[in-house]
Amino acid sequence: MQQPVEPFWRMKTLEQMNAEEWESLCDGCGRCCLVKLEDEETKEVDLTRLACRLLDVGSCRCSDYANRFEKVHDCIKIDAAAVREIDWLPSTCGYRLVRDGKELAWWHPLVSGDPNTVHEAGVSVRGWAISEAKVKAKNVHRYIIKEPVGG
Ligand code: SF4
Ligand code: SF4
Repeated sequence: MQQPVEPFWRMKTLEQMNAEEWESLCDGCGRCCLVKLEDEETKEVDLTRLACRLLDVGSCRCSDYANRFEKVHDCIKIDAAAVREIDWLPSTCGYRLVRDGKELAWWHPLVSGDPNTVHEAGVSVRGWAISEAKVKAKNVHRYIIKEPVGG
């Protein structure tokens, strides 16, 4: 009798994943593209409901993924080293969950087989994120939020 095959995200470390596996581990929530404000003295980071100007707040995808680093100077490359270092990734993030040895939730596209479940479960920023392009810089602090609970 054949043994069931474990999915790659349980079998591999972040560092062992190939490019296709890596991309698929992103659930498409768009939360890492929310504008964050760092207190210069305390280094504390506040999350806002404002999204990077390149984020399509409907699809929750970057509108120019291939050129994102040229267009947005503080866009952060999410690779294995970054995932191990960054402490502001949302608790629902697929990379963070695997990093911490946790299971992906039912709504993760790799589990559900459907890219829409991240939106249906209310985990993505769809419906509440506002493009930073629509807000004056001096008013950004008005949009500070606690990390939304999802999943
Ligand atoms: S928070 Fe994580 S899962 Fe969500 S879009 Fe960003 S990298 Fe992908
Ligand atoms: S440039 Fe694209 S990937 Fe980078 S933060 Fe903005 S929307 Fe997200």
